[in-house]
Amino acid sequence: MVDPFSDKYSCILLYHHKEQFLLENAHWVLEKLEQFRTAYVDLPRYTTKDYQQNKQRALQFVRQKVQEFNRWYGYKVNNISVKNQKTRWGSCSGKGNLNFNYKILFLPEDVASYIIVHELCHLREFNHSRKFWELVALSFPDYLEIRKDIKKLCISGF
Ligand SMILES: [Zn+2]
Repeated sequence: MVDPFSDKYSCILLYHHKEQFLLENAHWVLEKLEQFRTAYVDLPRYTTKDYQQNKQRALQFVRQKVQEFNRWYGYKVNNISVKNQKTRWGSCSGKGNLNFNYKILFLPEDVASYIIVHELCHLREFNHSRKFWELVALSFPDYLEIRKDIKKLCISGF
């Protein structure tokens, strides 16, 4: 899957628009360019080797984090696994399995913890309802801010 932020495609497109468009939409263009600039604070490109070398450590990390937060939530967790995905930080199955991207290991601690809590709360609310976000907010009252940070990391869904 092509990450629109990972190459310069979108920026080049902007420059190719007619001058008129730029004049009429200068504010919007500047705002977009600023977004792209911050979006370039991207995770480095990881290889399959990175995955092999770090997946065990990542698994330990997420297990410990799940345990830490679930001490309080007390949900029934089935299996925890770590994968090398391109577009997701984590997921939760109807069977109570939690799955995380191994790159969670390289995120700022609060962002990593938020991702863990997000998936953990899906064990209770298998949706993104208000009730779900209320559960998340019990651990992260500032979850809206963290979600903004995650969007800059270019993996969607959170
Ligand atoms: Zn979710």
